[in-house]
Amino acid sequence: MEDLGERWNQLKLTEDENAKIEIRVEQIERVLAEGDRCLEGKLISERRINKEVIKMNFKKVWRLNGSFMVHEICLNLFVFVLEIQKDKEKVMSGKLWLFDNQLLVLNVFDGMTLQKMCFNYESFWVRLNNLPLDCMTREVGFQIGATIGIVHEVDINDEGIGWGSDLRVRIELDVRKIIARGRTSNLASNRIWVPLTYEKLPKLCFKCRRIKHDGGGCDGNGDKNQYGSWLRARPSPRRGGVESKQNHGGAQREGSEGSQGSVGI
Ligand SMILES: [Zn+2]
Repeated sequence: MEDLGERWNQLKLTEDENAKIEIRVEQIERVLAEGDRCLEGKLISERRINKEVIKMNFKKVWRLNGSFMVHEICLNLFVFVLEIQKDKEKVMSGKLWLFDNQLLVLNVFDGMTLQKMCFNYESFWVRLNNLPLDCMTREVGFQIGATIGIVHEVDINDEGIGWGSDLRVRIELDVRKIIARGRTSNLASNRIWVPLTYEKLPKLCFKCRRIKHDGGGCDGNGDKNQYGSWLRARPSPRRGGVESKQNHGGAQREGSEGSQGSVGI
């Protein structure tokens, strides 16, 4: 989609092509009003999934108070029109959503053209394993998490400590990037390998270790043994309080759609 947009930008327009057609707000009011109850979702999958299958699946999973319709915009890109506005919040707060272990990147409807829609980011609960107990803090969560993506939350109690076998950090990942297996940290001159596991980790391409390929397709020739289902963590309920949203560095939003490749683990 990006390539097409770039090509159009380079065209020298004729007078007729360049004549501006004013679209009045009242002409799009109906969609704007409906858009308040809409979500747009891209299923990261090689196979085309029928919208009826999507509807049937998420009807069972979301268990909403009202009904909803699904419109297919293009390949695996759907607009969900919810009957009740509150259901939108329920779906968004319950993210992330998988279909057959494939990621459905879900955004609020913003009326963008297809070229400008972006489905490259999704938030995951990432677990930082093997940390010493005195490192189970909000600060350490943000510090390590910021090297992986944009940190939204650290699962800690009111005292800022995350008691548990691992530290849970909610991180917005660029799904086109290689999934990190860990981080190396230093504590008082001691090297600590911090393995990462991911709750609700979707299928990855075993060749390039990405959830989603960028425009150029798969560029990997990876070793299957280097990645595996051990990267998946079982989802668990929140252990502590809620940390307010903050951006402590990490990835910036950029880029656009790409093609898909083979999926592995
Ligand atoms: Zn790949």
